[in-house]
Amino acid sequence: ARQSGRARRRAACPGCPAHAAPSRRMDPIEDTLQRLREAFNAGRTRPATFRAAQLRALGRFLQDNKQLLQDALAQDLHKSAFESDISELILCENEVDLALRNLQAWMQDKPAATNLTKLDSAFIRKEPFGLVLIIAPWNYPLNLTLVPLVGALAAGNCVVLKPSEISKATEKVLAEVLPQYLDQSCFAVLLGGPQETEQLLEHKFDYILFTGSPRVGRIVMTAAAKHLTPVTLELGGKNPCYVDDNCDPQTVANRVAWFRYFNAGQTCVAPDYILCSPETQERLLPALQSAITRFYGDDPQSSPDLGRIINQKQFQRLRALLGCGRVAIGGQSDESQRYIAPTVLVDVQETEPVMQEEIFGPILPIVSVRSLDEAIDFINRREKPLALYAFSNSSQVVNQMLDRTSSGNFGGNEGFIYMTLPSLPLGGVGNSGMGRYHGKFSFDTFSHHRTCLLSHAGLEKLKEIRYPPYTAWTQQMISWALASQSCTLL
Ligand code: NAD
Repeated sequence: ARQSGRARRRAACPGCPAHAAPSRRMDPIEDTLQRLREAFNAGRTRPATFRAAQLRALGRFLQDNKQLLQDALAQDLHKSAFESDISELILCENEVDLALRNLQAWMQDKPAATNLTKLDSAFIRKEPFGLVLIIAPWNYPLNLTLVPLVGALAAGNCVVLKPSEISKATEKVLAEVLPQYLDQSCFAVLLGGPQETEQLLEHKFDYILFTGSPRVGRIVMTAAAKHLTPVTLELGGKNPCYVDDNCDPQTVANRVAWFRYFNAGQTCVAPDYILCSPETQERLLPALQSAITRFYGDDPQSSPDLGRIINQKQFQRLRALLGCGRVAIGGQSDESQRYIAPTVLVDVQETEPVMQEEIFGPILPIVSVRSLDEAIDFINRREKPLALYAFSNSSQVVNQMLDRTSSGNFGGNEGFIYMTLPSLPLGGVGNSGMGRYHGKFSFDTFSHHRTCLLSHAGLEKLKEIRYPPYTAWTQQMISWALASQSCTLL
């Protein structure tokens, strides 16, 4: 077939806007997606060299713009440089390094059990899905955008990033600076809030990874279902934290307080409420007070290490929650700074809002239970949480909690430090999400695991026994071949 000059140049220069096909519609989203699809279909993102180049460029973006990113995170969430480093920048850099070191190995075909005839080869090929959409929330606006991006790029996909519109300073850096580093024929940042994202979701993607609330997760999954697009949903919820009577209260208080008040409590895997006996509550309260004073001083509002609430809407929501139960520690707030003091609430009822919604702020209610069994029952009567924590000097107690409950992630005598290990997946279960990522799990998530059987073009005589008419002898042979489970004679 004869090609026009423009079509020839387009084929030679896939994804290049200058040679792009003239758009029939005036839909800028469609035009962007079309550009990325053309690049994918031309095979641009498949070679390992291309993937590695993109990953290295992402690593350079992180290094070159470290200060800019720290400033943006401070502007959005009053994050200290240290908290930004350990929960955002370093984790992104680690993921880039890991993917670069393992890319070749991850991309290898995975051989399947050899068949009896040794004539065929069976294997699993990890191939890119195609056009991937990543939608991110505002609480770790860099980590939760770029860590999935590493997996999507490593797996050879074209990617659309939709950062949160709420963490505005970080969104700006991602929109204006990141594209300067990545190949724009294969990568785009699209901006917007709920309305724009819903419009974006009307388009067909080959995979969607969404991080955010269960409410919006449902919207994303419904939109994806229209195109039968597979999804990973990284959602939230209320994470129980059981504290056994047999524990050192100060050790538990230090660990729980750090993980609860880190990023001003705006962490999806933070302990959301404590379950313990009234006696343990009495021992924990002075220990929690002491941990809070040690971490943030007598006046936490002046601590450079305590974050702020992201916006007025969230601030007002959290301030209303301070009215639940009785304030045992903290409880102060300052609207002008969107400051909420590290707070502990006691005597809260299950029916109060603080026990009905994900808190997502520096407020820690304590709920009384009489025993481990009652705590387990309390947890199992609710939606499966994203994270569950158990603190006890007895490993039996921790193991019982692990064995008799379900959650996306579990911490025994520890908080969400598992997030820093790329050897462990991050993901929810039930209402807290589906799918997983981090490290190799990200690569696998963004890869289609394609079943492949390559057979010999000849040797038809060997294979003829499978065709009708079926005789007693061929039926016997076929049954034997099937029972052997690894014979591809059939
Ligand atoms: P959110 O669900 O409101 O928003 C997340 C993203 O979805 C944003 O990019 C936003 O623009 C978009 N969005 C919002 N409304 C939409 C709509 N109607 N249609 C389409 N898109 C829409 O979540 P958030 O407030 O940004 O983040 C807080 C939630 O995220 C909490 O529930 C928290 O637990 C959860 N979270 C989960 C993880 C995890 O790894 N599982 C990590 C961080 C946060």
